[in-house]
Amino acid sequence: MPELNFIHAMIEKDNETGRYAERQLCTRFPPEPNGYLHIGHAKSICLNFGTALKYGGKCNLRFDDTNPVKEDTEYVESIEADVKWLGFEWAGLYFASDYFDKMYECALRLIEKGKAFVDDLSAEEIRAHRGTLTEPGRESPFRNRGVEENRRLFEEMRAGKYADGEKVLRAKIDMASPNINMRDPVIYRIAHAEHHNTGDKWCIYPMYDFAHPLEDAIEDVTHSICTLEFEDHRPLYDWVLEELEWPSPPRQIEFARLNLTNTVMSKRFLKALVDEGKVDGWDDPRMPTIAGIRRRGYTPEAIRDFCERIGVAKANSLVDVALLEHCVREDLAPKTQSRNVVFDPIKVVVTNYPSDRTEMVRVENNKDDESMGFRMLPFSNELYVDGEDFMEIPEKKYFRLFPGNEVRFKGAYFLRCDEVVKNEEGKVTELRCSYDPETKSGSGKEPPRKVKGTIHWVDARTAVKIKVRLYDRLMVPGEDGENTLNPLSLRETEAWAEPSLAEAAPGERFQFFRHGYYIADEKLTNERDKVFNEIVGLKSSWK
Ligand code: ATP
Ligand code: MG
Repeated sequence: MPELNFIHAMIEKDNETGRYAERQLCTRFPPEPNGYLHIGHAKSICLNFGTALKYGGKCNLRFDDTNPVKEDTEYVESIEADVKWLGFEWAGLYFASDYFDKMYECALRLIEKGKAFVDDLSAEEIRAHRGTLTEPGRESPFRNRGVEENRRLFEEMRAGKYADGEKVLRAKIDMASPNINMRDPVIYRIAHAEHHNTGDKWCIYPMYDFAHPLEDAIEDVTHSICTLEFEDHRPLYDWVLEELEWPSPPRQIEFARLNLTNTVMSKRFLKALVDEGKVDGWDDPRMPTIAGIRRRGYTPEAIRDFCERIGVAKANSLVDVALLEHCVREDLAPKTQSRNVVFDPIKVVVTNYPSDRTEMVRVENNKDDESMGFRMLPFSNELYVDGEDFMEIPEKKYFRLFPGNEVRFKGAYFLRCDEVVKNEEGKVTELRCSYDPETKSGSGKEPPRKVKGTIHWVDARTAVKIKVRLYDRLMVPGEDGENTLNPLSLRETEAWAEPSLAEAAPGERFQFFRHGYYIADEKLTNERDKVFNEIVGLKSSWK
């Protein structure tokens, strides 16, 4: 049995003590619909939905849309698609804004209990009164307004009598609390703004620290899992529900957010990249967004595996992005067919093979798994090989093509390089080779001698041209150690592929033999040449 993570250990403790005895475990994933989700959110999704699955509970998808200005239905739709793509089903789909009436009532209840007051201080003045980590704050001169006055003013705030910032509603807790979040926090503000869900019904909006515990409690959430920066807000979370005398309130549990090398995970930052045209939209395959990762060709299985492996911790740390790539590679290796694709082609003329003949040779679809079958490839006297697979003057331990050397052409014959043809500039234009008919692969005959290298190839007459987009990291550490945009993150090139790739379906993944994993782009489907995105190379840099 793997060791329980600390969240699951807490849940099992709650089960033992019967804290939520009569209730089903309930978690939620609560994104703010102000951008597309990124790989950090995937960690939270896997944790919340995974925990519900593990304990026979349920998990809600809740849009935390209490901030009218930055939110948009485009984001709502993308978030739903992303959660589904990751393989999870929500029990309920909710919008925090649907609870605005209930939240308003809760605020009135606090006012009635003398636990909230309307403050006329400006935001700046409130800040100046707040104190510091070492000094207590000062009470607002409006703190001791009577219940009646507070109720009237709050109702007037709601009715639109005041301008943005003119008044706020604050919880009345303790200006001397060592926890600054408890120093009479603002719980409602005025914002005359159109909301994507409620339109202009409201001109006051609840603050996160007041709204969030209520959202959880209204949905019967038992365990409200959030990131570490909310740890200091937990006393306020508990205070709100305690003052409202909520029966068996949810429990907030904090874990460390995911940080990845070479990756900036902030919706605001990613939105700026999109708005400034630095990338080709939220789903640019270089983006750490779930939409980008999906178009890049990463699989939901690989992401779930990654989230499992990094686990949950109580201390922030930085995860090597190479681990994510490793998970992608491990997932793709057993389930992806290989195809021959030649980059930077050099023509090979097989001088002793009849020029009017083409034969079909058998090539395995996955060299580690015979059950994935074979395919037939045309072989003739004109072929292309990869630029990397020839060296006129070979370096040490180079076992591929060089003058005088013999190699196996995968699935076909041994070929020997007899002559190198160059153009006037000295560039190699053609390799003249001879083949040995006794060495046909799969013929059942032992070849008369051994060769050290096997290379891939395509038949020149039937090969199809494809467009390939090769990626490097979007962000690289600059001189100051901070991530900056990598100017070389995208390189487009052409390659020559075996004929079947012309029919690749959008989203279909392959191993380009000896190169890496590639996916037929889902969007660029009308180009003359098929477009493939590099998913990940074959070699792992993860230790
Ligand atoms: P960002 O700063 O990128 O905008 P956010 O935290 O403001 O992220 P929310 O929409 O509020 O975005 O996040 C929804 C949920 O995802 C929250 O519970 C949040 O804690 C969690 N989350 C966000 N980023 C990460 C991360 N890097 N690792 C783990 N969980 C995360
Ligand atoms: Mg947020």
